[in-house]
Amino acid sequence: MIEITPLASSSAGNAYYVTDGHTPLLLEAGVRFRDLQQALNFRTSAIAGCLISHEHGDHGKAAADVMKGGIDLYASQGTLDALGLSGHRTKPIKAKQQFQIGTWTILPFDVQHDVTEPLGFLLANRVGEKLVFATDTYYIRYRFPGLTHIMVECNYSLRILDENIAAGRVPAVMKKRLLKSHFSLENVKGFLQSNDLSKVQEIWLLHLSDSNSDEAMFKREIQELTGKQVLIAER
Ligand SMILES: [Zn+2]
Ligand SMILES: [Zn+2]
Repeated sequence: MIEITPLASSSAGNAYYVTDGHTPLLLEAGVRFRDLQQALNFRTSAIAGCLISHEHGDHGKAAADVMKGGIDLYASQGTLDALGLSGHRTKPIKAKQQFQIGTWTILPFDVQHDVTEPLGFLLANRVGEKLVFATDTYYIRYRFPGLTHIMVECNYSLRILDENIAAGRVPAVMKKRLLKSHFSLENVKGFLQSNDLSKVQEIWLLHLSDSNSDEAMFKREIQELTGKQVLIAER
């Protein structure tokens, strides 16, 4: 059984604890290691590996400390280089090259963000459950058959963003970046509609924007669209 525990989820920091009951993983290390330790009740030594999607501080700021804590760090070479990381704890991974951590089989895939070599991850365990994790991407070009768990960024709603720009609450230039770097509610809906959701048990919405999102509305609209249990990652 896959268990998902968000430890942090916003542009201030992202970290998620995911386990299949055998192999606990950390997805992202975007909060101080001390805070990670605290959130995990100081059981970080049980973590089998940490996957990092890209080099932005809200995903990778604790990467070096995670390795110092004895945890192997999996990221693209582009991400490792951007973070200035090397050494025996770094495990470079590549889009479309599957690898194994304990009971997980992990397939990284390319995502669309304004950095060197960002990745999303498809994680399969031994009992046939499949989790897709994708954040900081404005679009996902792939379809994933047989998903049981979805963790996807739902950063902003285009409608709320436009209202905020019109009211002068958000600078217009922000829209240009967001459109080509982060997942909107509208595009998340398209992604979900283009995948077979028949086996999906949980949909987690991640990395909601402070100013351009609406937690209750996002949850309701995705629930209505999919008929699935929708959870918002704690910020
Ligand atoms: Zn981010
Ligand atoms: Zn980012």
